[in-house]
Amino acid sequence: MKPGKVLIAAALAVVSHATLADTKVIHAGTLLAVPGEGTLQNQTIIVSDGKIAYVRDGFVDPANVSDDAELVDLSDMFVMPGLMDMHVHLQGELGPTNYRDALKMSDSDKLVQSIEFAMRTLMAGFTTVRDAGNTGEEMYAVRDGIEQGKIDGPRIIAAGGVGITGGHADVSGLKPEWMELATDASICDGPYDCRRATRHAIKYGADFIKITSTGGVMTDNNTGTGQQMTDDELREVVSAAAAMGRKVASHAHGTEGINAALRAGVASIEHGTYTDESSIKLFLESGAYLVPTLLAGKTVADLALTAEYMSDAIKEKAVRVGNDMKGNFERAHKAGVKVAFGTDSGVSAHGDNAREAVLMSEAGMSNQAILAAATINAADLIDMSDSIGTIEAGKFADIIATEVSPLENIEELLDVDFVMKGGKVYKNK
Ligand SMILES: [Zn+2]
Repeated sequence: MKPGKVLIAAALAVVSHATLADTKVIHAGTLLAVPGEGTLQNQTIIVSDGKIAYVRDGFVDPANVSDDAELVDLSDMFVMPGLMDMHVHLQGELGPTNYRDALKMSDSDKLVQSIEFAMRTLMAGFTTVRDAGNTGEEMYAVRDGIEQGKIDGPRIIAAGGVGITGGHADVSGLKPEWMELATDASICDGPYDCRRATRHAIKYGADFIKITSTGGVMTDNNTGTGQQMTDDELREVVSAAAAMGRKVASHAHGTEGINAALRAGVASIEHGTYTDESSIKLFLESGAYLVPTLLAGKTVADLALTAEYMSDAIKEKAVRVGNDMKGNFERAHKAGVKVAFGTDSGVSAHGDNAREAVLMSEAGMSNQAILAAATINAADLIDMSDSIGTIEAGKFADIIATEVSPLENIEELLDVDFVMKGGKVYKNK
C-alpha cells in the first residue's frame, strides 16, 4: 500500500464505544484459510464477537445466521489470515531528522508517533506485530491501549531489550553527557548483570527479550558486526527469561554470534546475515526461526549510496551487510530453516512491510511459503497458534483480502484492500 492512501487520522481517533454488530457474515470468493494448504472457492466466514464462529461452504444468507448479521461482501476477492511482522520498531523511522528529533521530541510526542506508525502497519494488512524494541514502557502502553480497545492498531508483542555496554543496543554517536543520560537500565555486562537486566525488562512489561549477540549496522561506532555478547551472557539471558516464561530473540549478523545465540537457546535469529552451513545445522537442531529482514538490508544498502546523514562507519556496514543478506537467506530457507516473516520496519518506512515478501520471493521462496511465514509460522514463534494465524473456528477474526491472489502475484500484498482485526473492519476499498 502507498503511504498516501493511509488513513492516518484514524490512528489517533479514540475508539468510540458504539456497539459493533455482534455478527458479521463474510462471503469469500477465494479463501486461503490455512496458508500452506489449498484454497477453497465461495466460502462463508461467520464472525461473532470478534472471533471466527465457523466457516461454511457456499455463500450463506446473513438472514439465516441472525437478525442483525451484517454482510461483508468479499465474493470477488482473495481472503486470507491477517499478516504478521515479527520485527518492527514502531517507535521511530530512519531518516535525516533522527538526531534532531531525539533532542526535540518528548516521550509523549514519540508515543503519539508510535500510535500513528502502528496504524499505518495495520492498514497495510499486518494485524499482529512483534515490536523488537527500544524504550520499553512506551510500547507497552501502546500495546495495552490497543489490547484494551482504547486506541486502534495491530496486536503488539513487545520486546524488552537487553544489551551490553557499547554494543548494538546501547546508545551511540552522541557526546558522552548525552549518552550517559540516554543509557537504559537494561544495558548490562557479565552474566549476573545480564540476568538482572533480563528480569528488569520482564518486570516492566516485556513479552519477550530482544538481545543483540553481534554488532549492528546502525550503531555509530567502529565495532563491526561480529559476536559481542559473550557465551555466558547469552546463556544467562536465555535461562533467566525462560524461568519467567519468556522467549529470547537475538539480532545477529556475524556467523559466530548467530551460532552462539543458537547454542544458548534463543527462539529466533533476527537478520541472520552470515548464516552459513554451521549455522544452518544449529537452526535445524534447535528449531529456532530465522527472521530475515531483507527489507532492512536493502533499505540501508540503498541509503548508504545517497544519505548524507549516515556516518562512514555506518555506510561501510550498510553496504556489506545489505548486499550479503539475500544470498545467505536463500541458502538457509532452501536447507529447511524455519522462517518467520520480519522486516525491521522503522529502518524502512512503516506501512511498507509487504515489500519484504517481494524480496523473499526474489530469494527463491515460494509464494505459499512466504504467506505461511507471515501467518502460521509467526503465530508459532510467538506462541499464539491457538488464537491467530489461520481462519478457523475459535480464532480471532484477523482477516485481509486482495483483488488478485498473492499466490499468483506476491506483489498483491503491497496493496491490501480489506483489513479486519478482531472482527472490526478497518479498511474496505
Ligand atoms: Zn531491528
